[in-house]
Amino acid sequence: MDKIILSEMDANFKNEIAAQPGAEHIQRCFTCGTCTAACPVAEVNDDYDPRKIIRMCILGMKKEVLSSDILWMCSRCYTCYALCPQGVKFSDVLDVLRGMAIKEGYVPKEQYKDAKELDKFVQELRCEIINQKLHPEGDHEKKVKEMIEKELKVTWKK
Ligand code: SF4
Ligand code: SF4
Repeated sequence: MDKIILSEMDANFKNEIAAQPGAEHIQRCFTCGTCTAACPVAEVNDDYDPRKIIRMCILGMKKEVLSSDILWMCSRCYTCYALCPQGVKFSDVLDVLRGMAIKEGYVPKEQYKDAKELDKFVQELRCEIINQKLHPEGDHEKKVKEMIEKELKVTWKK
């Protein structure tokens, strides 16, 4: 992912991205790193770096970006969107990149649906865990266990 081969760069990649709704301001990025510093996924995964993904897009590393597993790691918290001083809207840019990866055959179509379902599951789980902490008298712990068991069955079945 780090190797840059000039002959494989696609100078139009950034324009293709910027032509999609939500990703218009990708070229405003001045690599301040605010998104990466605040991202909860980057905190636990050293390979995940929103600032670097934007740089790779601007450099034209189309194949490397669209074929990378890293596109699918975002937990959709929108912190990067809220904090970016340049209004880049990285979470929306990521959605555009996911769509391009599917359209151009880098990943199967179902991957987008799976990612959406996983995002929903993670947010529901988070709500239940917070509720458990705030209201330990409720049955949230039981619900959390049931949700995890169900998700494991679904994931393993695939
Ligand atoms: S916060 Fe915005 S400007 Fe700063 S690196 Fe991230 S996308 Fe670029
Ligand atoms: S939306 Fe994704 S990339 Fe942005 S801060 Fe949240 S997890 Fe990180």
